[in-house]
Amino acid sequence: MLHDDDHRALGHRLGLFHLQEEAAGSVFWHPRGLMLLRALEDQLRRIVLRQGYREVRSPQVLSQPIWERSGHWSVFREGMLAVEGEARALKPVSCPGHMELVRRMGPLWSDLPLRIAEFGLVHRDEPSGALHGLFRLRQFSQDDGHVFCREEQVPDELGRFVRSLRALYAALGFEDLQVAFSGRPSKRLGDDAVWDRAEALLAEAARGEGLVWSEQPGEGAFYGPKLEFVLRDRLGRAWQCGTIQVDLVLPERFGLGFPDGAGGRHRPVVLHRALVGSLERFLGILLEHHRGRLPAWLAPEQVVVASLEGGGAVHARNALRVLEEAGLRARLDDRDAPLSKKVSDAHRLGVPYLVAAGPRDEAKGSVRLREPDGAQRDVQLGALGAELSRLCAPPHPHS
Ligand SMILES: [Zn+2]
Repeated sequence: MLHDDDHRALGHRLGLFHLQEEAAGSVFWHPRGLMLLRALEDQLRRIVLRQGYREVRSPQVLSQPIWERSGHWSVFREGMLAVEGEARALKPVSCPGHMELVRRMGPLWSDLPLRIAEFGLVHRDEPSGALHGLFRLRQFSQDDGHVFCREEQVPDELGRFVRSLRALYAALGFEDLQVAFSGRPSKRLGDDAVWDRAEALLAEAARGEGLVWSEQPGEGAFYGPKLEFVLRDRLGRAWQCGTIQVDLVLPERFGLGFPDGAGGRHRPVVLHRALVGSLERFLGILLEHHRGRLPAWLAPEQVVVASLEGGGAVHARNALRVLEEAGLRARLDDRDAPLSKKVSDAHRLGVPYLVAAGPRDEAKGSVRLREPDGAQRDVQLGALGAELSRLCAPPHPHS
């Protein structure tokens, strides 16, 4: 029996998703849940676009030579889902695809930094005993992004990443962030000189940003050291979510070199970064942290319009249309039921705002708006769209 605030129980109660044995580790997203996943992805997209990233999409299945080049075939083979009978695998990360993309894009050395982002679906062959709701899946979406830059641009890029991460996490109710520095693992690519340089670059940029971190020796990715950003939820549990890595290994293995216009070619540094990592896992954390009552900008349904007993159905439908035209996620509750029932049902589903529309409101040209804290006020129908848009606006992305 799951606890009420377990994200799997919330997923069921709020009609968001389900999991079943025949697709262990993959999510069946229901309409309300997909709305939620999209709302998070849209906000992450606003942030990266505002920071000058361009969105790309790389293939889902890549063959052995690419994975040999990236080192995954030798170091991460057991974590990859091979495609039956052939030396091909579903991608566990988007990095190699992005290396190929940027090589073909062929930027000049003076074009750097070049930033690309992908909301990519990835697969990892997790053992069935390790699977745990949205927290540990075999198929999930990543807010993956790579910055191709020069060494001296690393501090600026790190600063940009840290500012956007702090702003996003604060908007979701996580103020307390810890940072860990994950150094070279025992299974790695690249010689010690390369790792010395990569770790120094990352540490210097992090110091420049005023970060204080704890050391996690041996926990880095096999191609570079990383900073991990750890948030704490309302139960005091620590979750590592955002990461940024300095990579001097893959640019060399993929033979990246960009011309400087004077006959020279230079190898870029690649920063691998994700603000949340797995979107599904992050939603699991958010659902438990907020007990299913998500901030209004993220809520799968932001407003319920309730008609009153004894009339108001047409007025309620008009209010719904106003909200939909304003781009809000709204639903009409025109059941023949008392308002108190509609209020408690909306509350149970974590819908932050309720708009009541009855015959008396219609005569006044207004509706009754009920806020998350229970406060109520009249809002003119003509102002309803703008008012709810303001209340449900996502946080403004940092540049
Ligand atoms: Zn990467």
